[in-house]
Amino acid sequence: MQNLSQLKALIQGIPLKIIITTHHKPDADALGSSLALFNYLKNYQQDITVIAPSDYPKFIFWMPGNNCVVNYEESESTKLKTAEQIVNADLIFCLDFSAYDRINAMGEMVSKSGARKVLIDHHLNPSIKAEFTLWDSKAAATCELIYDLIVSMGDRSKIDVNIGECIYAGIMTDTGSFRFPSTSKKVHLIIADLIDVGINNSKIHRLVYDNNTEERLRFLGYTLNKRLIVLNSYHTAYIVLSKDELGNFHSQTGDTEGLVNYALSIEGICMAAIIIEREDMVKLSFRSSGEFSVNEFAGKHFEGGGHKNAAGGKSSLSLHDTLEKFLNLLPLYQTKLNSEFTTPTVLIPC
Ligand code: 5GP
Ligand code: MN
Repeated sequence: MQNLSQLKALIQGIPLKIIITTHHKPDADALGSSLALFNYLKNYQQDITVIAPSDYPKFIFWMPGNNCVVNYEESESTKLKTAEQIVNADLIFCLDFSAYDRINAMGEMVSKSGARKVLIDHHLNPSIKAEFTLWDSKAAATCELIYDLIVSMGDRSKIDVNIGECIYAGIMTDTGSFRFPSTSKKVHLIIADLIDVGINNSKIHRLVYDNNTEERLRFLGYTLNKRLIVLNSYHTAYIVLSKDELGNFHSQTGDTEGLVNYALSIEGICMAAIIIEREDMVKLSFRSSGEFSVNEFAGKHFEGGGHKNAAGGKSSLSLHDTLEKFLNLLPLYQTKLNSEFTTPTVLIPC
C-alpha cells in the first residue's frame, strides 16, 4: 500500500470516527475481513462502527464482534443514524468491494462523505477512488489482504484467535476450502501462522458448512433434481429459481449460496449460472473453470463483475426475460466455451 506510514499514523494516533463497511449480502470474506479489522483496530481505542448494507447468513454470526455489526436495512431509524455516521466519519474502510453500487444506497453517502477512504479488495476493475488502497486481484481473499495490512503495520503480534478466526473463515470460503487456483503457497503459510496463533480451523469449517437445516437440504435436493439444466453443446449448466419456489422452502438469506458450484462440478461444464428472482431484482451468480471470464460476461451483460471464475450481476427484467437474455447470449460465446475442451491431448508413447 502506498502511504502506509500515513495510514499507520492515523490508526495508531488519536481516536477517530471510523466506519468499516463491506458489500451487499456480506459473505464470510466480507464479514470476516470487516471483523478482523474491527478487532485489530480496537487495540488503538478507535471509535469504530461496522456497517453491513444488508442482512447476511446466520452461518457467519459466530464471528467475534458480530454483535457489534449494524445492518443498514434493519429499520428507518438505523438508516438515518447510519447516514449521519457516514457524514461525520473521519475514515471509512471499504472492504471486499470496489464499486459503490455494491453497497446500494450507502454508495452515494460514502462517496460524498468528506471522510478519508481506505479501499482493501481483490475484485477486478476497481472504480472507487481512495486515499489509501490495498488492492490485489491475485489475493485469494480480502482477509488475506487484512492479514498483510496488520503485518505491514508491524502488528503481527496483535493477531489473536479472534482476528485469526475471522481471517481464516474468509480465506477458507473464498478459496473453496483451499482448492481454487488462488490458493497460493502464501495462503498456506498464512493459515499455518494462524494455526500457530491458536485458531481452530476444523471448528470454523464445521460452523460455516455443517449448519444445514433439514429444509435447506430438501431445497438443495429439489433444486438439483428439478431445476438444474445442462446444455452440453455450450458446456453450460444453470439453475433458475422463482420467488415462489424460495418461499415454498422458507428460504433464508444464504440458503442459495453454493448452489451454483454444483452446476459447475458437472464434468464438461465450463460455465455455471444461477438466476434467482429476488424482491426487487433478478440476481445472477456465475462460475467458470479455466480461461472463460465470468467477470467479463457479468460486466458486459448483467451490470455486475467479480473475479475471472466467480462473478455476479443483476437484471431488472422479469425472471423469464432474464433467462431468455442469458440463453440468447450463449451462441455468441460458444467458441470460447468450447475452447476449454478442445485443447489437444498430449499423447505420450508407451
Ligand atoms: P456470488 O456469486 O458468490 O454472489 O459472488 C461471486 C463474486 O462476484 C463475489 O466476489 C462477489 O463479490 C461478486 N459479485 C456478486 N454479485 C455482484 C454484482 O452484482 N456486482 C459486482 N460487481 N460483483 C458481484
Ligand atoms: Mn472476497
